[in-house]
Amino acid sequence: MNENILLVEDEEALRMTLRDRLQSEGYVVDLAADGEQGYEKATRLPFDLIILDIMLPHCNGLDVCRGIRLAGLATPILLLTARGQTVDKVVGLKLGADDYVTKPFDTMELMARIEVLLRRSAPRTSQGLHKFGSIRVDFRATQVTRNGELVYLTAREFQLLRYLIERSGTTLSRAEILREVWGYEGGTFSRTVDVHVASLRQKLEELPKKPRWIVTVPGLGYRFQG
Ligand code: CA
Repeated sequence: MNENILLVEDEEALRMTLRDRLQSEGYVVDLAADGEQGYEKATRLPFDLIILDIMLPHCNGLDVCRGIRLAGLATPILLLTARGQTVDKVVGLKLGADDYVTKPFDTMELMARIEVLLRRSAPRTSQGLHKFGSIRVDFRATQVTRNGELVYLTAREFQLLRYLIERSGTTLSRAEILREVWGYEGGTFSRTVDVHVASLRQKLEELPKKPRWIVTVPGLGYRFQG
């Protein structure tokens, strides 16, 4: 499962280096260059983990951290602190951050901390089970059954399905789906989404041409209803 990570860091070089490293580890990475953008993305999009620099322009990482918790989100937060800023660490943890690493840090150590936090956090979907019609999706076991029979989904199909289910009732554009599920920016491969949606419909819908669960919203994108 490719977890989604939001990286909030104003130093461009570090932001790019970390993004590349995280992507090479298989994570889907979204970026924010300041606190406001970080807060906006953290509260609007679903993430499995947030890496949050403390020293940020406009609105610092501690304020962002507090804001995220006040918004009721339990997403694990890993703070990036500057050497010697012990006070920041303490305040950060009190404000609801889960862990921190001190700059300059060893990337290996950062990756290890990320893994621990991801393992510790609960799955985003409550109980890890979702049912609609004759379909049963087990998010923890990454398994889908239809009328009690196992349906084989590719890893990407499963991620797409999970993404759609978690935003049930919301219309999602192809560009948005591509960015969040595939990690692509720019939305130039929009057929990719259509192909995967068609495949999911074949596997899950009674009438794939008249889908009941994954519906097309003309001119906009797709929406899961269930
Ligand atoms: Ca900074």
